[in-house]
Amino acid sequence: MTASLPDTAYPHLLSPLDLGFTTLKNRVIMGSMHTGLEDRFWNYGKLAAFYRERARGGAGLIVTGGISPNRQGWLLPFGGTLNFRGDVFNHRRVTRAVHEEGGKILLQILHAGRYGYQPLVVSASNVKSPISPFRPRALTARGIESTIAAYVRCATLAQKAGYDGVEVMGSEGYLINQFLCARTNRRTDAWGGSIENRMRLPVEIVRRIRAAVGREFIVMVRHSVLDLVDGGNTWDEVVQVAQALANAGATILNTGYGWHEARIPTIVTSVPRAAFASVAARLRDAVRIPVVASNRINMPADAERLLAEGSADMVSMARPFLADPDWVNKAAAGHADRINTCIACNQACLDHTFANKRATCLVNPRACHETELVYTPTRQRKRIAVVGAGPAGLSAATVAAQRGHAVTLFDALERIGGQFNIAMRIPGKEEFAETIRYFGRQLELTGVELRLGQRVTREELVAAGYDDVIVATGVTMRRPRIEGIAHPKVLSYLDVLRDRAPVGPRVAIIGAGGIGFDTAEFLVHDANAPRPQPVADWAGEWGVDLDVAAPGGLVKPHGVTPARSIWLLQRKATRPGAGLGKTSGWVHRATLARNGVAMLAGVQYDRIDDAGLHITVGGQAKLLEVDNVVICAGQESLAELMPPEGQQGGPAFHKIGGAALAAELDAKRAIREGAELAARL
Ligand code: FAD
Ligand code: NAP
Ligand code: SF4
Repeated sequence: MTASLPDTAYPHLLSPLDLGFTTLKNRVIMGSMHTGLEDRFWNYGKLAAFYRERARGGAGLIVTGGISPNRQGWLLPFGGTLNFRGDVFNHRRVTRAVHEEGGKILLQILHAGRYGYQPLVVSASNVKSPISPFRPRALTARGIESTIAAYVRCATLAQKAGYDGVEVMGSEGYLINQFLCARTNRRTDAWGGSIENRMRLPVEIVRRIRAAVGREFIVMVRHSVLDLVDGGNTWDEVVQVAQALANAGATILNTGYGWHEARIPTIVTSVPRAAFASVAARLRDAVRIPVVASNRINMPADAERLLAEGSADMVSMARPFLADPDWVNKAAAGHADRINTCIACNQACLDHTFANKRATCLVNPRACHETELVYTPTRQRKRIAVVGAGPAGLSAATVAAQRGHAVTLFDALERIGGQFNIAMRIPGKEEFAETIRYFGRQLELTGVELRLGQRVTREELVAAGYDDVIVATGVTMRRPRIEGIAHPKVLSYLDVLRDRAPVGPRVAIIGAGGIGFDTAEFLVHDANAPRPQPVADWAGEWGVDLDVAAPGGLVKPHGVTPARSIWLLQRKATRPGAGLGKTSGWVHRATLARNGVAMLAGVQYDRIDDAGLHITVGGQAKLLEVDNVVICAGQESLAELMPPEGQQGGPAFHKIGGAALAAELDAKRAIREGAELAARL
């Protein structure tokens, strides 16, 4: 460690960065996230509260969600736009809140181009994107000039609104990326053809923004360093563009990986931590301005390592700031074990955005609800029993105790975490262990009395004289009525995942919901393979060339050798996995397809016997000659502790999570229900 570095476990992470005209207090950027609040002016109070908490939590630089420079650039109809003086007033609420907390904030200018989900879409050429139904109109030369003018106007309005700078979104397949790559730029004029012409749009945008805003305003560009699509740029082109952007006046280069239409995951939980850092490092060697590493960085030790080894000058994390606004302060205080870690599930953030719902966070339901879900100290300290230390019970117990109640948490098992203990055993879901670690630490910090290995009864709870009892006992597995269900070859997902029952080489899985998919994932993988998956293995499996010798960083994937032959079955006629998360389901489906998992829908289960599983599909009887049948047929609520309806006296009983409703249960609902109930008591 050099003498100038702060005396902490994360000296590089917490070092200031001098940009010449301004200094960032540390190397942590809260990356841009669309929350849904930026699209409506009446939500700017909530948006300001959201950013205020993150600035107070120590983020060195915050970047807003994407704001369009004009209507053609909207991602969604009537999306957040900054092209009119009257908009400045709302944005000032955001910048004031951040500055009052000692933070700095950039406005991200995002023109969606052909990714816009609206009829006004434009692009470099009229090449339709696979992820929007609207075919874009190719911008004319005049249209390009007015688009550049819109970027410049947006940046000058951002300056008026008090932002410390702007981030020009140039990656992930949005408009600038569409001009940069031959995949979408088929133009033959001065804006297409050679890389010099294709990069003219972003270079002119940056040059003219710089001329308009002066020297003392941050202009960060999110540059696509790995397109991960056919027709993406070569590494030489990526570097040429980066150098031109720096020469045009960019202050910082953020890095972007993969267009949204790419069929390679870049942020879901199965992507190894910091998987793309080596690409940022290559860019850093090629330019003279600070470079930012991003994607799947979620804990301080990883971030510190990247900075210490010189992979980047800063790290950008977006979702980790939804999960924990105090991420930086906790790291700085040496309390990384208190960080509520983003598990990269996308369930409450990106999946909400794609469903046009306000973003929040599975592990932190306060995210984007800072003014609505408030944990005020209680004026009347109650004695509260929480039964069940799964996600619902942990959330309820810790929020209630944080508010000042006396909380006792019971679990029949010897460990906390409920079903998350099983989820974290699935290859690619190792991050789920972080949530158990976080809650374990929160129990200690909030003073919850923990009683493990204790299956309490209603009578004991009533006799103990609690004021409130929260029943968070989760679910019990559903056992379908199928002839032969008691055959020894039948196992449940609990036998397989929790109890490690031996499983033969040919397996039929009954039920293709989230747990059926996860069980298939578990069974096709080699139990002895290193976990989490090393970056090189992951890149080879998906065909990612991290050396970027191939254009776009795409190569032929390595073959895989599945550990077993699997049939994944459901009764519904719909596509198996249709109910999985919008932004992660395709990754599960692709992984299972690569491993040869046969998925059958519209199945009738006839019987199970020594020969295997007898089914009828499409009117045809069929025998699946399998060694084991694994039941993943959903779950039912376990709420036997609840008193009979109408019973008077004793504690007030409440039920949450799986105990309240098993259908469509997930940890997002379980944790939210626990927090909301505890905030009310
Ligand atoms: P549980 O987690 O079931 O916890 C209930 C707890 O109550 C248990 O610890 C149990 O021991 C205890 N208990 C029961 N009865 C008593 C009693 N009488 N006395 C004391 N203690 C008792 N969800 C997601 O959102 N995303 C995912 O990716 C995801 N993946 C999953 C993968 C797998 C393999 C599995 C099995 C589940 C997954 N889930 C996922 C589902 C998620 O884990 C559940 O929705 C969540 O755990 C439900 O929380 P809960 O607190 O209601 O119940
Ligand atoms: P689920 O998603 O509801 O799936 C249950 C499956 O069992 C369905 O495929 C259903 O399909 C089948 N089934 C239901 N009743 C049956 C019966 N009587 N006989 C035979 N098959 C039956 O539930 P789950 O897989 O148990 O998952 C529980 C919860 O955990 C889910 O709600 C999910 O949100 C969450 N989870 C999420 C993830 C994730 O990645 N986000 C991962 C794991 C779990 P048919 O009725 O068509 O046969
Ligand atoms: Fe991270 Fe999941 Fe929260 Fe999104 S919902 S921020 S991915 S933990």
